[in-house]
Amino acid sequence: MIDLHCHILPDIDDGANTIEDSLEMARLAVSEGITHLLATPHHMNRNWMNEKRKVVALVKEVQSEIDREGIPLTIYPGQEIRIYGNMLEDIEKDTLLFTDELQQYLLVEFPTASIPNYTERLFYDLQMNGKIPVVVHPERNRIIQEDPHKLKELVQHGALAQLTAASYTGGFGKQIQKLSKQMIEADLVHFIASDAHNTGNRAFHMKEAHDLVIKEFGRRKWHQFDQTTKDLINGDVVIPPTPTNIEKKKFFGLF
Ligand code: FE
Repeated sequence: MIDLHCHILPDIDDGANTIEDSLEMARLAVSEGITHLLATPHHMNRNWMNEKRKVVALVKEVQSEIDREGIPLTIYPGQEIRIYGNMLEDIEKDTLLFTDELQQYLLVEFPTASIPNYTERLFYDLQMNGKIPVVVHPERNRIIQEDPHKLKELVQHGALAQLTAASYTGGFGKQIQKLSKQMIEADLVHFIASDAHNTGNRAFHMKEAHDLVIKEFGRRKWHQFDQTTKDLINGDVVIPPTPTNIEKKKFFGLF
């Protein structure tokens, strides 16, 4: 299994603190069947600035520790980029990282409580430049929780979306779990990744998510997610299924 979203690098964001933490996460990942992992520290998110050069260097260091310990895991450099207006300029400056070496797919994070009003324009401009935005954990964004149609519009316009394993397995509560399942049903999300931060309260849950997808949607669905994951890391073309609507009812009684 490949995991495209994980905070395994030490002392760089709110993920692993030390190299020992990183190794512990690596062991847990392998125990769930993960063989390759994209290390995606936060970038441009509040105090976390993790430019390409720094991430690439740290991945090399951590990989050599993983190898020294004999853990059968390969890690690649990536980033979880908090959305900001000058992404295209920074792509020019070569400070951003993609999921693939061909530099086509970017993991983009929205703020928890909003979707910036320049998002559609930015996503359009990115795509005009051959860059495809991948919205990470849309199920945890409050605007999308209130109105999943907002995500559907972005997907219809060419964005992809990543569901977090623990959201789907219930780690963020029943409502987010329900929404996650509905998002899979409606083809609003294209693959599952862990967004693991540690081996405790924010662990991988990939094996659990894998088993639940097969139970609820069948092997074919998991194969589809797996193929999209591979396409994203190989830089191959992804042709996503056409998204459908989630029933109009509000998900979160609170809103
Ligand atoms: Fe993350």
